[in-house]
Amino acid sequence: MTVARELRGVGVSPGLAVAPAAAVAWSFPDVEDRTVDDSEVEHEIDRLRDAVAVVADELGELRRRTEERAGSEEAGIFDAQIMMAQDEEFLAGVELLIRKNNLAAETAYEFKALEIRNAWESSRMSILRDRLADLHAIQIRMLAHLMGRASHEAWVGEQHGQVVLVARELSPGLIVQLDRDQVVGVISEEGTRTSHAAILAHSLGIPAVMGVRDAMKLIEEGEMLLVDGYTGTVVVEPTLDQLDLARLQASRRGKLELQLEGIAREPAVTPDGVRVRLMGNVDLPEEVEPALNHGAEGVGLLRTEFLVTGRTALPSEDEQTEYYRRVGAAFGGHQVIIRSYDLGGDKFPAAFKAPHEANPFLGWRSIRVCLDQPEIFRPQLRAMLRAAADRELALMVPMVVSLSELRDTKAMLVEEAAGLQAAGVRTAESLPVGVMIETPAAVVQIVDFAREAAFVSVGSNDLTQYTLAVDRGNAQLAARFAPLHPAMIRQLQQIRLAARDAGISAGVCGEMASDPIAVVALIGLGFDSLSVAPPSLPLVKWVIRHLPAAAAIEATTAALDATDTEAVTTVLREALGRHLDLRLVDPAGSLPRLSGGTSLPLTL
Ligand code: PEP
Ligand code: MG
Repeated sequence: MTVARELRGVGVSPGLAVAPAAAVAWSFPDVEDRTVDDSEVEHEIDRLRDAVAVVADELGELRRRTEERAGSEEAGIFDAQIMMAQDEEFLAGVELLIRKNNLAAETAYEFKALEIRNAWESSRMSILRDRLADLHAIQIRMLAHLMGRASHEAWVGEQHGQVVLVARELSPGLIVQLDRDQVVGVISEEGTRTSHAAILAHSLGIPAVMGVRDAMKLIEEGEMLLVDGYTGTVVVEPTLDQLDLARLQASRRGKLELQLEGIAREPAVTPDGVRVRLMGNVDLPEEVEPALNHGAEGVGLLRTEFLVTGRTALPSEDEQTEYYRRVGAAFGGHQVIIRSYDLGGDKFPAAFKAPHEANPFLGWRSIRVCLDQPEIFRPQLRAMLRAAADRELALMVPMVVSLSELRDTKAMLVEEAAGLQAAGVRTAESLPVGVMIETPAAVVQIVDFAREAAFVSVGSNDLTQYTLAVDRGNAQLAARFAPLHPAMIRQLQQIRLAARDAGISAGVCGEMASDPIAVVALIGLGFDSLSVAPPSLPLVKWVIRHLPAAAAIEATTAALDATDTEAVTTVLREALGRHLDLRLVDPAGSLPRLSGGTSLPLTL
């Protein structure tokens, strides 16, 4: 008798799929360390350039197909890949290796790509990992051409009945070529909600779960799979009861989605009239449009690390100015809060000598790096000031532990504004400067910070990490990473009260703001602004529109007296359950639990 097994990942494209597994096993081709004679060097460079041209054509064709099947926004994914494939800096590096070391084109290409892969692979930044997937896809394509091999996309042409595709990693090129009638769902070991393959699966309506650890090992070819793209659950050889329950939950989710679609333009206001400013977190330029489409009222956290990480040179002041201006214009009429570089830990520009540290997350990072390296920080400040001449921008300083960090930043800003004015450059005279509350030290001194900051915004990811001494990236500690720990709730209250006394805005821009249960506490405490990743905007707004602030306040008052995470969670959950159908927002109830584990946030 077969026994049902449950695997967990992240639901990146909603819907249910039931079909046998079909593995698409692809890996990097083994590239030989091949050298060539001097006389062949030019030929190798020609082969490299020819392969780039062919790959660019192929990607152009995929772009066209994607535009037809999914729309122009999605087709842009391939513009990014084409740019990456044709990146002159990269190709010049490959050519140099061919010329200097007499390497064959594929060997040189592999070496150069490895350099970037190594830098990006160790990063915990999801944006870099997402780009890594694009790099992998281009690399496989290039190597296939240079080595005369079939690429992984050859799988598409093979004959199968209805299947769920299981892969280590999925490329957007593969996804867009899938026949929707044949491939009813996809699962992969790698990939995040924001990876391009995930975005395309979502647009094409293919239920997808990514980040399923060891899926290729744990799932046998032909085994029946139930893929729940809503909850990120995969059941191998499901029972009939599990199938029935999953279908019931899926129909509920479908109804919820319809409701969510209808409220994109509605305000985030509780039934008893409390207005919340619901903003978007934007990590990458391509997230601007989804945030706007989901009705974000500005940007509560514009992460700027993508401008420097994984690149060989620091971005120019003009490039930054242009980016901040563009985002500011896109959200015209709303504020865009730009966070200064949160570098360090694992996020360092390649052009920058990163120190080796035993504890990088307690090390030289974030505002510490910026203040110590004015040559990085000052151009960023100047770019913000210039862009703010005709845009509603604010600066937010991350990871502060001492008032001096806020004061020094403001002083630099004043100096840079004066410098720009003296040089006759069009600039804002100053910017509102707020702080991210991410450390217990900042909470202890919150009254002092609130007196000198234009606003405060809680980075709950780091505040949880530093309060509970739990590494936010350590999967083994996931159950202990508890933003609803009493120590967190009580700190949040201190932050809110200090901001209110100082008459400034208090927001939350960490992941906690997208958890429906936590939203009860954040509304109950009176946070006036929440900022979440674009896909979470509709659900958070829906929760706010169903939850009377009075009920949230009552539940939060009880939660503040609770002495453990479970008690806090229970009281908040019960309050929410009185105002909306919890089965819709609590994925843990979606499938019968076969094993322990933490529930994952709802993916829409
Ligand atoms: C946070 O720490 O909650 C936050 C929003 O910043 P980041 O996740 O970028 O560290
Ligand atoms: Mg942080």
